[in-house]
Amino acid sequence: MPPRTEISTTAVAATVHRLRATFTTGRTKPVAWRRAQLRALRSLLTDHADELQDALRADLGKSAMEAFSTEIGFTVHEIDHALAHLTSWLRPRRTRVPVALAPARAWIVREPLGTVLIISPWNYPVQLALAPLVGALAAGNCAVVKPSELAPATSAALARLLPLHLDRQAVAVVEGGVPETTALLEQRFDHIFYTGNGSVGRIVMTAAARHLTPLTLELGGKSPVVVEPGTDLAAAARRIAWGKFMNAGQTCVAPDYVLAVGETATALETHLAAAVRALYGADPATSPDYGRIVSTRHFDRLVGYLKDGRTVVGGGHDRDSRYLAPTVLADVDCGAPVMNEEIFGPVLPVVAVPDLDAAVSFITERDKPLALYAFTASASSKRRLMTETSSGALSFGVPNAHLTVPGLPFGGVGASGFGRYHGEYSVDIFSHTKAVLDKPLFPDTLRLAYPPLTAVKERLLRRLL
Ligand code: NAD
Repeated sequence: MPPRTEISTTAVAATVHRLRATFTTGRTKPVAWRRAQLRALRSLLTDHADELQDALRADLGKSAMEAFSTEIGFTVHEIDHALAHLTSWLRPRRTRVPVALAPARAWIVREPLGTVLIISPWNYPVQLALAPLVGALAAGNCAVVKPSELAPATSAALARLLPLHLDRQAVAVVEGGVPETTALLEQRFDHIFYTGNGSVGRIVMTAAARHLTPLTLELGGKSPVVVEPGTDLAAAARRIAWGKFMNAGQTCVAPDYVLAVGETATALETHLAAAVRALYGADPATSPDYGRIVSTRHFDRLVGYLKDGRTVVGGGHDRDSRYLAPTVLADVDCGAPVMNEEIFGPVLPVVAVPDLDAAVSFITERDKPLALYAFTASASSKRRLMTETSSGALSFGVPNAHLTVPGLPFGGVGASGFGRYHGEYSVDIFSHTKAVLDKPLFPDTLRLAYPPLTAVKERLLRRLL
């Protein structure tokens, strides 16, 4: 029997070849096909919501409500938004031509790229596989979806359901881990959309370079929360705890750590502890709303952070069930691993800083985050954070929620990735924005530009340009 990677490479190459052949026929280009696929994807999500919720519970202990709001419902909204606006997004846009070129018409059209690859991670395994697919289909592409092997129940559900609902000649699911993804990356795609960690992001980018394939990297990092005096600390703590401990902290835009400005740290710690108890009860292990860590590898990594600070609340854990309580740490050493690695789990360090200057320096001295959050009552602090820091997104008063606004682009900057999607931005990512110029042969106004270039022509040209 040939080794597993060989089987994968052959099968994967055949799949990609089949999709490329479909794209060549032009079948995916008509708007009617795109709409039909989006509607079919919507039915998949609504008709099989229970099955997907069960898979998400099996993989991540996600509650049905959280699975619906952050994964299934979220993607349905993306689809509805795309269906409502697709016609206007695809309409060719006219642009003015310079006088020297008149008469002529110029416009911009979006054309599909071809066959694209979507590689998704385990933490929101439905949303992060299907929301990019919405963009790929809306833009008229064929697509291979590679779900994460670390969310096996969801991966299996997607592999079963997508071919049942979507055009099998245009959409394929390839399940598997490193060998299968490696085999996929050997193929030539017209775009690669990768969501995951930066180390694998580098592998994906290297592979894309071999075929000069454009790519989007949706990566992670440490997203800070700045809390200033004068803000309602109880309300801020409630929202921070909600955003942090959703999906047991395994959210790319979750608050990673808090910068408590001035005198806020002690009171904020108390309010965060109260917020955790209010959200998940005295024993979060028994809360139906609290998830589990995806794997023992991540569990062990996260438990290792507990020694990096004083536990304000939480700290309880159980390796067998991969349970780690919502935990707030104080008095952390900024050189400790918890302050230097993306936490990606339910551990929230609170760092006291003397003033906003110190908070801004703390942020700008580190990698540009995927998101920056602030709780402040000061308009000038908001202005300063807006102009003096750089992050994928900046949100005041609420974490995580910016990605539910369909008109806002979602993506990172610097180490948190590049490229942006959601709504119209998704169509942009999976389209080539083509320039079209149409100039009639008569009258031949270009005669001015043809040699021999006389002094009279030059004078006229200088006046026109
Ligand atoms: P993961 O382990 O599921 O990996 C992501 C994908 O990469 C998977 O499909 C996996 O099969 C593939 N992969 C893994 N190793 C590979 C290799 N050596 N070669 C080729 N492919 C490989 O997920 P993860 O990376 O642990 O996800 C968590 C990270 O993703 C965090 O850093 C998080 O912040 C980030 N993230 C970002 C976003 C975003 O939208 N920006 C969303 C979710 C997660």
